[in-house]
Amino acid sequence: MREVVVDQKKCLAYGVCMMTEPAVFDLPDDDDVAHVVRQPENDDEWANTIEAVVQCPAAAIAIVDV
Ligand code: SF4
Repeated sequence: MREVVVDQKKCLAYGVCMMTEPAVFDLPDDDDVAHVVRQPENDDEWANTIEAVVQCPAAAIAIVDV
């Protein structure tokens, strides 16, 4: 099984992930790092999540095997 994670030490709060897949990523106003709020639940969400991995300017998002 795969899982998406954000490395909060690398995240620079650009917000690209949240705009790319808002169901999966959030960047709360009162926080300075992005969070995974839930795992992708369908092919479209996975496609957007993979796009977020590619687009993240800080290379802070990874998809890992669990
Ligand atoms: S796109 Fe990358 S750097 Fe920007 S908020 Fe998301 S995880 Fe953080």
